[in-house]
Amino acid sequence: MGTAVDTGEVIVILSDDEDAEENISFSDQSVVIVEAEDVKKSDSAVAPVALDEDLVITFSRRAEVLPHARYDCPIHVFTATDEIGAPAAGNQLMCDQCFCYICDKLASLCQMWCCSGLCHCNSHKRSDFWNNLRNSLLLGGLQRFNLTLSELDSHLRHAETMLQSFKLRLSAKFECFLRGESLEGYGPSDSNPKGVVFNYTPVYEFVSSFLNEADQQEGRAAAVLRLGAAEVFIRHFQVSGSYISHSPTANAVEARLVLLQRVIASVQRQMVMSSLTPDFIHKLQEFYQKLFFPPELKNMKSSLCVRPWDDVLLVSVLKGQNVSGVRKDKGKKDLLIEQIAVVLLRTEVLQQQHRYRELCRYLRVVESDDSKLLQQVRDLIPFFFCMDGSLPGGLHSLFPTVNAPAARLTPDLFLFYLRLFTTATAPPTATARVSGSVQVCISDAAWQPMKDAVPLPDVVVVRFALRVQRCCPAVFADSRCWISLLQIVNPPAAVPEPTSKFLHEAKDVVSTILHGANVQIPRVFQEGYPDQALLLLVTGALGQRVLSGALSPALPVLNTFKGNLWALGWLWDSLSSSPERLRSFSQELSREAGATADGDNILRFLHSLVPAPSSSTEYRHQQSSGS
Ligand SMILES: [Zn+2]
Ligand SMILES: [Zn+2]
Repeated sequence: MGTAVDTGEVIVILSDDEDAEENISFSDQSVVIVEAEDVKKSDSAVAPVALDEDLVITFSRRAEVLPHARYDCPIHVFTATDEIGAPAAGNQLMCDQCFCYICDKLASLCQMWCCSGLCHCNSHKRSDFWNNLRNSLLLGGLQRFNLTLSELDSHLRHAETMLQSFKLRLSAKFECFLRGESLEGYGPSDSNPKGVVFNYTPVYEFVSSFLNEADQQEGRAAAVLRLGAAEVFIRHFQVSGSYISHSPTANAVEARLVLLQRVIASVQRQMVMSSLTPDFIHKLQEFYQKLFFPPELKNMKSSLCVRPWDDVLLVSVLKGQNVSGVRKDKGKKDLLIEQIAVVLLRTEVLQQQHRYRELCRYLRVVESDDSKLLQQVRDLIPFFFCMDGSLPGGLHSLFPTVNAPAARLTPDLFLFYLRLFTTATAPPTATARVSGSVQVCISDAAWQPMKDAVPLPDVVVVRFALRVQRCCPAVFADSRCWISLLQIVNPPAAVPEPTSKFLHEAKDVVSTILHGANVQIPRVFQEGYPDQALLLLVTGALGQRVLSGALSPALPVLNTFKGNLWALGWLWDSLSSSPERLRSFSQELSREAGATADGDNILRFLHSLVPAPSSSTEYRHQQSSGS
């Protein structure tokens, strides 16, 4: 095999001593050729030199020297020293692959190689002095983030350059702001004798556009740019004197707050949503903590104290091992309290990852600074149960004994649950978001069957709906919610009319159910006519709704009875106990029919089955003669 020797040549050794121990690996060869892709100039046939009787050198090649730091040079001896005044014994010598350890470029390109007072040729890695110099030169502003060279990549290098140039330009902008501007229309006055105004807006806009640029960068670089910018603008202050007050950004103190909020929101999002390593996050947090916070911003000093996903307490809560959110560690109490922004971000991530169970556990336990928003997110626990495929679990969690989320459902969310429960299908992607109010974003794609889920029985769904209507005014008032519920009990195939005895007795039973606790539906009520019983139960609830006040629109609600006119007759009959309301309801219906484009059709339909109050006896007569 080839062996490097002092002259820097590769030699091919020929041996005919097949039995020699050192040649065991190629005992069946007597010639070993070093593979080469190209023939180098330094290759040369050499005159056979006999090393001993058995070895003859016939070919040699200069060893390839890879780029190396000067102190590792295989050609020129290096003398380690902290000396900076002048090159130590021959350290100034270099081969064409020698690199400057400090500048990280070819030694021949280093301008400080032999520079008296700081000559780089003496630099080496076993010296704190040289290492620090190297770090501060290569890391530049990134050293403030406590980053190491091994963490550095092209994105971070680029960020460092961006940050440096940003800081220079920003300080020019800020100086300009401090000088003030004399603007027309802001001439000298009693309150402003010099006629100068201080308008921070240009500085604000400059920082904003830099933050926009930061948004476009790779994750770690973006974080460094955001916090690096904050480090500077957080120190800006308002000059006492006049400023253009019509814009909040004209005042440095107000604008600074807006900018810092933006930075915090972006970095918090990165900490929770992105793949930043815990170590890097920790460095960002330390950097932020060390910033100078003026008194107005002191309360934001802990804004980046975000638990990493591998935090012990957080993990134990997510896994269900801790249901209290409290952890005692060496006598210290650790409480799972997070900023509401962080709670919302975790909710977003866990939904994206379909980790609904963990999300429910987390929301039940976590405490936050904004109890109102936290309540809104907690109200989504039933939704997350359902998205996890557990319809009974979702249903159950809508009605805990205290503070039931059902009471705060929006009509849209109610309709969502209703469809989910009756079909056991779900939209392929549905994410719930809370920003002031609860929003469920559903894709337009067709709903798909949920894994391992079966539709809930009609009686369960009806009971769910009636319980919600009882405690949730928004759902109780909404026509769409009534239509969807009535469509469940008024199927396209007509429900046969039960006996008049059943219809009569149903009035009391329905009334009892609707006034009783928790809308308990006795089994006996469903024995003879299960479908009819449910239809009458919902119809009775609709009667209560009509009696409680105007229902608009009402015609589409009544339209759902198209196939079961007998039930509509039963409704009318039960309303007749409040003749005044029945009259006003009929008037509402007529007005609505008049205002509807296709009112004629609906009105004709209604006239055919619903008598005007004056003709209600006639209707009853028809009804009794028909049965
Ligand atoms: Zn070298
Ligand atoms: Zn150098």
